[in-house]
Amino acid sequence: MRFTSTRGGDIATFNDAVIKGLAGDGGLFVPETLPDIRTYFRRWQGLPYTELAYSFLALFADDIPENELRYCIENAYSAFPNPETPSPLVKLSDDLHVLELFHGPTLAFKDFALQLLGQLYGRHIRNSRHSINILGATSGDTGSAAIHGMLKQPNAHCFILYPEGRIAELQERQIACTGSAFVHPFAIHGSFDDAQNIVKQIFGDAAFSSACSLTAVNSINIARILAQCIYYLDIVLKLDASEANPLEFVVPSGNFGNVLAGWMLSRMGIEGIRFCVATNVNAVVSDFFSTGEYCPGKVIPSYAPSMDIQQASNFERWLWWHFNGDSVRVRDVMTTLRREGKFVLNKTSANNDIIRATSCNDAEIKASIERIWREKNYLADPHTACAFSAVRENVRSVVLATAHPAKFPEIISSVTGECPEHHSLEALKHRAVVKQVMPADVETVKKAIADILN
Ligand SMILES: *Cc1c(COP(=O)(O)O)cnc(C)c1O
Repeated sequence: MRFTSTRGGDIATFNDAVIKGLAGDGGLFVPETLPDIRTYFRRWQGLPYTELAYSFLALFADDIPENELRYCIENAYSAFPNPETPSPLVKLSDDLHVLELFHGPTLAFKDFALQLLGQLYGRHIRNSRHSINILGATSGDTGSAAIHGMLKQPNAHCFILYPEGRIAELQERQIACTGSAFVHPFAIHGSFDDAQNIVKQIFGDAAFSSACSLTAVNSINIARILAQCIYYLDIVLKLDASEANPLEFVVPSGNFGNVLAGWMLSRMGIEGIRFCVATNVNAVVSDFFSTGEYCPGKVIPSYAPSMDIQQASNFERWLWWHFNGDSVRVRDVMTTLRREGKFVLNKTSANNDIIRATSCNDAEIKASIERIWREKNYLADPHTACAFSAVRENVRSVVLATAHPAKFPEIISSVTGECPEHHSLEALKHRAVVKQVMPADVETVKKAIADILN
């Protein structure tokens, strides 16, 4: 299978697309064609998760030998307490299920993608004998999920920048209490944007980043999207969906990566699936699906911080499919966005009958946590609460639960009186925080990286 850039200027095999991350022309890699997976459906019924993952990913990763791909998948999901059911489905009523995606090592759905990505990087390091070091900025979940995906990989250093004092204490502990000599938390005096800008500047210095074998950790790697398709597929196989009996996935959304993965299945022949893009007050994507206008502004902090995003990077992939692979139109739209700060698709064109969108402010997040606890005796974290508040009566729905409630104990206990806990987070509270605090200055960060690698 070949992977092409959404902007038409780069082509790669699966492994190359994974290692490069971003396409050479600034676009995102997408599979050149999508397989029709209906033909496999009967064979895939009842398969354990890792088998299903292998059968699905092998359609795309045809440049990786079977035994190596199986090895990567098995190791990736062995990090979950129950590797054959890493994404348990909880029934709240006949019409309402919750797909729990928070049982991985960092208790957020990003583990599904980053555990696999870590294994794919590890394979590349072994086969090419090239080192890979990870550099990224995080406002919370991505950094810790990336670190935990790389922990078992040989000699791969992880440099993770985050704003000092501005991420949740437990999130910092997930980054700074790993005990690994290869993990380097850099707490920057500044905002998340400052941290992100430093990372961009470092990658802008091609000589430095290649001398240090730096690879970006970000939300746009194609392997992340494909890994996320699998849990949707697993549910469609379990619950069935057809035009006569449709199923709506309600997805807490920020960068549009999670919901995009599910939506791609509809482009692979699966019928009867619908999607609700549930955002917090940062409603750029949900506004687009309601009005046709995509207009990113300033990030507004919310109770659901992992969705405090205005530039939904994966949206460009959706555009590419929406334009039926016409990369000229994608380029035009992205140029307009850069020049004018927004773009508009006419309403009928943006109006997509299988995607709807909602947004949820902080008061609504609290009300949603309270209601779902009172009515269903279920504790939802603030991200998942955005999805619960979007569920419609009498529509067969699956809410994707993207973080464990124990990651957000303050808000949940203020609303429900319950204080959710998780043993892995309790253990972190007794470990030393190891981090380097530094000014938001690119040269200081570069020097810190160079000192560690030399
Ligand atoms: C990253 C994240 C999201 C948003 O997912 P996207 O793929 O960026 O839309 C939602 N909830 C949690 C807990 C997350 O960590």
